[in-house]
Amino acid sequence: MSGWLVVAGLGPGADGMITPEVSEVLAQATDIVGYIPYVKRVPEREGLVLHATDNRQELDRATHALEMAAAGRNVVVVSSGDPGVFAMASALFEALEAGLEQWREVDIRVLPGVSAMLAASAAAGAPLGHDFCCINLSDNLKPWSLIERRLQLAAEADFAMAFYNPRSKSRPEGFAKALSILHEACGPDRIIIFARAVSTDEQQVRVTTLAEAEPEMADMRTLVIVGSSLTKVIDRPAGPLVYTPRSVV
Ligand code: SAH
Repeated sequence: MSGWLVVAGLGPGADGMITPEVSEVLAQATDIVGYIPYVKRVPEREGLVLHATDNRQELDRATHALEMAAAGRNVVVVSSGDPGVFAMASALFEALEAGLEQWREVDIRVLPGVSAMLAASAAAGAPLGHDFCCINLSDNLKPWSLIERRLQLAAEADFAMAFYNPRSKSRPEGFAKALSILHEACGPDRIIIFARAVSTDEQQVRVTTLAEAEPEMADMRTLVIVGSSLTKVIDRPAGPLVYTPRSVV
C-alpha cells in the first residue's frame, strides 16, 4: 500500500489564487476531506470521493484522513487560505502524534496557499509592509484573557496586526472588546481595514480609523488589519491605498 496524504491550502476564494501544485495534487487525489464549503470548491470528477464535514470536527476529520492514507488512498485535506494558518495542518499533526505508530510511515506533505491576510493586505495596498503579527480573535480554543494580553502587547510593540475570525454570531461581544482595547492603546486616528470576502465577487475593502470603526463592520468572512503608528493612506480617485513604510528611521 502506498497511499499519501497532502494538506493543501485553496487560497482565499478565487480560482486564480490556487497554486499550480495544489491543482495538480487535487487532480491526482482519490479522496478529498474538509469543511463543507471548502470541499465544494474542488472540481468533481469520476472516481473522486468527497468527504465534507462540519467545521467543528477537525480531529475526527484528521484521523479519518490518516486512516484512509494508511490504507492506500491518495488523500487531500483542504483548508481555505494556507493550511498552516489557523487551519487543518496542525490538527492533522495532533492526530498523527496521538495516533497509531504505523501512521508515521505515511507520506505526508503540506502545500501552502495564499492566506487571507496576504490577500487582504494586497487588496488594500501594503499595510503589512513592516513588522506585523497575526492573532486569531476566536476564543474557542484559548481563553479570552490571553487574547486581551496579546492585543495589549502587540499594540505596545507597535506591530501592524492582522486579525482572523474577528466576529461570529456565537461570539458577538469579543470583537467590540478588542476594538475598545485597541482604541485605548493605539488612539482614535489609527488606521483599520475591514477586508471582506477578498478575491470573490463579494469582495469589499473598507479603510477607516479606530474612532470610526464599528463592531458590525466585521463578520466571519472578514480579515481585519490594524496599522502600526507609521501606516499611511494615499487618497486616490480610485480608492485609498494603505501602506506601512519599510523603514522606521
Ligand atoms: N487558513 C485560513 C484561515 C482560516 S480561519 C487562511 O490562511 O486564510 C478563517 C478566517 O480567515 C475567517 O474568519 C476570516 O477572518 C479569514 N478569511 C478567510 N478567507 C477570507 C477571505 N476571502 N476574505 C477575508 N477574510 C478571509
